Amino acid sequence: MTVYAKPGTEGSVMSFQSRYDNWIGGRWVPPVKGQYFENPSPVDGQTFCEIARSTAEDIDLALDAAHAAAPAWGKTSVAERALILHRIADRMEENLEKIAVAECWENGKAVRETLAADIPLAIDHFRYFAGAIRAQEGGISEIDKDTVAYHFHEPLGVVGQIIPWNFPILMATWKLAPALAAGNAVVIKPAEQTPSSILYLMSLIGDLLPDGVVNIVNGFGVEAGKPLASSNRIRKIAFTGETTTGRLIMQYATENLIPVTLELGGKSPNLFFDDVMAADDGFLDRSLEGFSMFALNQGEVCTCPSRALIQGGIYDDFLEKAVARVKAIKQGNPLDTDTMMGAQASSDQWEKIKSYLAIGKDEGAKVLTGGEPADLGGDLSGGFYIQPTVFAGDNKMRIFQEEIFGPVLAVAPFADYDEAISIANDTLYGLGAGVWSRNGAVAYRAGRDIQAGRVWTNTYHDYPAHAAFGGYKQSGVGRENHLMMLGHYQQTKNLLVGY
Ligand code: NAD
Repeated sequence: MTVYAKPGTEGSVMSFQSRYDNWIGGRWVPPVKGQYFENPSPVDGQTFCEIARSTAEDIDLALDAAHAAAPAWGKTSVAERALILHRIADRMEENLEKIAVAECWENGKAVRETLAADIPLAIDHFRYFAGAIRAQEGGISEIDKDTVAYHFHEPLGVVGQIIPWNFPILMATWKLAPALAAGNAVVIKPAEQTPSSILYLMSLIGDLLPDGVVNIVNGFGVEAGKPLASSNRIRKIAFTGETTTGRLIMQYATENLIPVTLELGGKSPNLFFDDVMAADDGFLDRSLEGFSMFALNQGEVCTCPSRALIQGGIYDDFLEKAVARVKAIKQGNPLDTDTMMGAQASSDQWEKIKSYLAIGKDEGAKVLTGGEPADLGGDLSGGFYIQPTVFAGDNKMRIFQEEIFGPVLAVAPFADYDEAISIANDTLYGLGAGVWSRNGAVAYRAGRDIQAGRVWTNTYHDYPAHAAFGGYKQSGVGRENHLMMLGHYQQTKNLLVGY
């Protein structure tokens, strides 16, 4: 067990700057209006740095820098861009512990997760797209004996990116790596709740990129995000966040006729068929682990398996074991490597989750465990903690239909296969889903019948760079990750040559 020291205190592996400006044109640039906002840590509720509060003027400066950088960057060889992405990955790996502690402190998530998952995965995404861009090929079509069509990939130019607070560095990487590999210059706006880990990352890797290729502008949604997303100086907007905000982003993009990628909310079902309890073995154990995955990252995951549907024959027995597993989740200081569940990312999110705990109780759902905020005492008493909570109810309830984005699970039984699929699909969303069965045919069929962009069968919460990710229905438009993502950041040039 290791307990990391609080950033900036004696023995800490890293410290934040006390103030972060915007990163524009390869240097720190103060906000035009000179305003800053406070960045508190959800671990203890205390402000640890202040952040530039940007407006349309700052977005314009960043767009100037991006436009100045884009032509030369777009003409670099793919080998050169790939090398830079590899160098970024190497630098991140050398500083893994520092970045993991930074992300833990700013977001409240457990450091064991940032060390083992978030940051290694982010590093791998840079490496994946460094390889992918070199492997990408154009095409030649022979039109007739005197005419040939050549197909080339060209960068879009300058693109805008807006990200949420639940995986600050990973969400930035999912967007930056393919955009940069494809030869675009970027203006990115982090979430106002969690800007400092990506700014800290920039202080580590900024020298590896030509000036102006990546620009980070901080601030709030309407003040800074809207001028970026509605600018006629970007050739694409990529957004991850709430479905309601995604609708606005699409409206802004309509004015400028630019492509959008929207990665939005979810209310993912997790199905457990009778046969998971056929033996008390490793498969059952994995299924129980799959059930408790709703608490990973404090439930602040777009694919959080927030609805568990359990077949009637095993409902009571499985639930008894599963709830015991949830009770064993170790909640505590996020900087302690033994801690499995940390703090919710912000006080607003904490309040929202508490309101859903009240809604669930008012709707008549039964609390099987949790149901309250958690006071961890001592230095953590000002932090934003919630007990992992399991409600039993029915799929018409608000706690089954609305995205809570916290460690709150809603459980209901199903009678047979058809009812399982019907409940699973009875939602506005279609992002993720889980299916647990020893019967390969059932797992496969359910995987195909559930309307979601990512269905895990007999596993959950893996996000490899080479697997396409995105939503059906209100969960989004387009995909991220995988080779296909390069195409979302490129134009196709067709050169038709007569000989
Ligand atoms: P949010 O929509 O409130 O904010 C996301 C970003 O949009 C922030 O940077 C914010 O400042 C900005 N923003 C807000 N209003 C804006 C506007 N009018 N114009 C431009 N930008 C604006 O979302 P959040 O609360 O930060 O994130 C949680 C949501 O993100 C959840 O719904 C979750 O499911 C979703 N999410 C989805 C994925 C995915 O891949 N599908 C991944 C992570 C999170």
